[in-house]
Amino acid sequence: MKERIESEALYNEAKNIILGGVNSPSRSFKGVGGGTPVFMKNGKGAYLYDEDGNKYIDYLAAYGPIITGHGHPAITQAITEAAENGTLIGTPTKLENQFGNLLRDAIPSLERVRFVNSGTEAVMTTIRVARAYTGRNKIIKFEGCYHGHSDLVLVAAGSGPSTLGSPDSAGVTKNIAEEVVTVPFNDLESLQAALDYWKDEIAAVMVEPIVGNFGMVMPEPGFLEGVNDLTHQAGALVIYDEVITAFRFMYGGAQNLLGVTPDMTALGKIIGGGLPIGAYGGRQDIMEEVAPMGPAYQAGTMSGNPASMSSGIACLELLKQPGLYDNLDHLGEKLEKGLQEAIDQYNIPASINRIKGALTLYFTPDKVKNYQDAKKGNDVLFSAFFKGMLDKGIHLAPSKYEAWFLTTAHTEADIDATIKAAKEVLASLAP
Ligand code: PMP
Repeated sequence: MKERIESEALYNEAKNIILGGVNSPSRSFKGVGGGTPVFMKNGKGAYLYDEDGNKYIDYLAAYGPIITGHGHPAITQAITEAAENGTLIGTPTKLENQFGNLLRDAIPSLERVRFVNSGTEAVMTTIRVARAYTGRNKIIKFEGCYHGHSDLVLVAAGSGPSTLGSPDSAGVTKNIAEEVVTVPFNDLESLQAALDYWKDEIAAVMVEPIVGNFGMVMPEPGFLEGVNDLTHQAGALVIYDEVITAFRFMYGGAQNLLGVTPDMTALGKIIGGGLPIGAYGGRQDIMEEVAPMGPAYQAGTMSGNPASMSSGIACLELLKQPGLYDNLDHLGEKLEKGLQEAIDQYNIPASINRIKGALTLYFTPDKVKNYQDAKKGNDVLFSAFFKGMLDKGIHLAPSKYEAWFLTTAHTEADIDATIKAAKEVLASLAP
């Protein structure tokens, strides 16, 4: 691997233009003890190429959306055709119906849907709609789950079911934080206690049905069913944040995979095929709160734009291919097996959570079931592993809380090369 001289120069330049040198804080190397983020020049299939000409096998997948690999020709063609017909029209178009139908066929709980431009927007609006529908103010979320950067969900855990959250970001007011109650994931007792305590004040319970934001964590058997029962008994709505999970594990949402149905769902990432997108939807009677049908306002100049619609349609059409998700699962299994062998061989205090084509390698020996478990991951080991892998041409997210995402472009040879690199790096970290 060549030195990343161009990345250094571009980062130095960027720091004087783009705040912090990055347009999203997760792209900085702050979470891995600092350093220069790699400036990528282009992506093709499973690979990224940086400005110095280095090649990487990519497992970031742009934090999830790129499930068919970078620059898939069918998606590129769809975007090009859309652009040729006018990038933004500002009236309804047939494409929106087409895409809406595709989504509802895949995720039947989306009786009515709205397209927006990011996962943040989608989640933010589901909360507004739930408040409008129930006439209540507070929401419950689960510790460590990320739901975008709108005020209400940038709130850290309180220390018990009766405790309200505190702002997780400057600029989020205490008043807003007091509308959020946070309970541990996979813990129905805490959820019950919070619902009992706040009784008629909870509008909705927001949950990632399979967590992607403190690594990949499955709900324990019965957890989501319990969330539904307890929440509905309390007269509140269940909102699934499927921004990461929809179309990640199967053609549909985690709700299809697990056989559970929320009242509303927020979507993003994969459904845009790599262009900006978000969508939210759910039960018709709830969605009818939204303008122009109802009193809850939500709008967007860019919403449902032809490029994002076309890119999303093309992506979903690709994902219909038989056997595609089985293959992602197969590659994921192979990767997990190889990593686990290396962990065992070198006595690394680590564990793996894998759900089909997505996995997280935690530098803690214990099984991770909630955020507190994930936090135990050793920062020094993760940083060394991340940087070691990067130097060997394996591109991971620079955070111990993120997942490795497989794409349909990854090959068995890519997985072999990744396992080989991981073995070398883990050998160098052996106690
Ligand atoms: N919800 C979840 C579960 C997410 O992982 C993210 C982004 N990582 C968001 C919402 C926010 O999406 P966006 O970045 O598109 O605003």
